[in-house]
Amino acid sequence: MTDIEKPSNFIQQIISADLDANRVETVVTRFPPEPNGYLHIGHAKSICLNFGLAEQFNGACNLRFDDTNPEKEDDEYVQAIIEDVKWLGFDWADEPKFASDYFGQLYSWAQYLIGEGKAYICELNAEDMREYRGTLTEVGKNSPYRERPAEESLALLEQMKQGAVDEGTMTLRAKIDMASPNINMRDPVMYRIKKMAHHRTGDTWNIYPSYDFAHGQEDAIEGVTHSVCTLEFAANRPLYEWFTSNLPLPSVPRQYEFGRLNINYTVTSKRKLKQLVDEKHVDGWDDPRMPTISGLRRRGVTAAAVREFCDSLAVAKTDGVVDLAQFEHFIRTDLNDNASRAMCVLNPLKITLSNYEAGKEEILTAAGHPNRDDLPSRQLPFGREIYIDQSDFSEDTTLSRKKFKRLVIGEYVRLRGAYVIRADEVIRDDAGEIVEIIGSYVPDTVGENPPEGIRPRGVIHWVSASNCIDCDLYLYENLFTEAAPDAGEGSFLDHLNPQSLQIIKNCKAELGLGEAVAGQQYQFEREGYYCLDGKHSSADKLVFNRTIALR
Ligand code: ATP
Ligand code: MG
Repeated sequence: MTDIEKPSNFIQQIISADLDANRVETVVTRFPPEPNGYLHIGHAKSICLNFGLAEQFNGACNLRFDDTNPEKEDDEYVQAIIEDVKWLGFDWADEPKFASDYFGQLYSWAQYLIGEGKAYICELNAEDMREYRGTLTEVGKNSPYRERPAEESLALLEQMKQGAVDEGTMTLRAKIDMASPNINMRDPVMYRIKKMAHHRTGDTWNIYPSYDFAHGQEDAIEGVTHSVCTLEFAANRPLYEWFTSNLPLPSVPRQYEFGRLNINYTVTSKRKLKQLVDEKHVDGWDDPRMPTISGLRRRGVTAAAVREFCDSLAVAKTDGVVDLAQFEHFIRTDLNDNASRAMCVLNPLKITLSNYEAGKEEILTAAGHPNRDDLPSRQLPFGREIYIDQSDFSEDTTLSRKKFKRLVIGEYVRLRGAYVIRADEVIRDDAGEIVEIIGSYVPDTVGENPPEGIRPRGVIHWVSASNCIDCDLYLYENLFTEAAPDAGEGSFLDHLNPQSLQIIKNCKAELGLGEAVAGQQYQFEREGYYCLDGKHSSADKLVFNRTIALR
């Protein structure tokens, strides 16, 4: 019996029923990425689902690399995937597993099927094979090699394996049914010749198994009970079951499909993401505009936000497109709850407080977070010269107090966590641009109301001019201008947003941000959520990425 009160998605229901009927003793799932690219937000849904099911039902989830095709696979991807899954907060049973560890076993099972008269070496080339396969409306034709003796196929398979046969001239095919309405069942390929080094097995193999011949058998070897994949594999399920029922496997896994996660204004396909990287439209797989796990991490999105978003999604039998705003909701909620507050002035305007003693410095204290006592408080140096944002000052005295809750010439405003100040005079350069404001502060107003008659318009952020740090801010917008960049005619690259990155140089941030570490999140008050970018920051210039704007 399980302690699940109300199974909420169809896979949970299936598992509950399997456990209740003792069809399954311990639930084993797996997350099976091919190491041919970095993981993206779509994979996160699959990770949360598979690891989540294992957690919920006290089972285990394997991380298994489906490395059956050496062409595009690489150890760089293996390491990145391991890091990403860990960062998301999941742990797998034992060591990570690799399909390539099972190549020997798969080969024996291929020999077994040949011996059973259920597989044969075919010498049709790719073009002829396509021709013989038929179409959705037309049945296929049997290969002329279909009835060759098992001994001959076994010998040829061995030669293929040894590297004695040219690529493209032979394949091993399952002998199923060329007239099947399901094209996957028309004698599918089990092995192809690829004289190519593999990132783990080196030059040992000259043949590599197809996804269909490998996947279910990998599941069976690992004792996977519920093999959960995305909908595009639904038509492969009969083939998955054909192999699992025709081979002497140690266990019989079952495949279930759910809908892929797609999010608007982005693409979730490793091939397309790789193209963005290779063609340098972005600054690597972890560019903060990428929907990759590493990009989200570098942007400052928390693992908790990713998990909560994924858990909020329906696990359905249809593909859907989720609104980006839904993801952003979880990103903001988590950062609002957990990010330390800080002040950063994007477009600095200097104010000299003429009645504040020159050379004097006070250290004011501000809360790390309005309702999180556990976050350390901040030390804010205050002196005669401070910076505020240009947009927080106006000379227009007709602006209503309601509309413009900031500093107006001749009027008062409160500096967050500090004094009430007044703007007295404007200093311009030769071009007539405002370069400085001469103002004054109202003594004894830190944490205290100003004297009667002084009415600050609002509260603005600021930093000490003599004691702050310089930084650049990277502001990100959607990578694409179209909600469905890969729909319709033309390339998804036609819809790249030329304004997806805006760099604001020479911002002034409060002193404490000099201690920021890469990836640590902050709310820059009144501006947005930011985190330090470890890649672009240097000893003399810190760079912060904007994770997301405030609401
Ligand atoms: P892509 O199309 O981006 O290359 P893939 O399916 O080829 O993705 P795999 O490495 O084979 O990538 O995927 C590993 C697992 O993640 C598979 O079980 C796959 O079904 C799942 N997965 C991939 N993309 C998504 C997605 N967008 N939504 C949910 N699950 C996904
Ligand atoms: Mg794939």
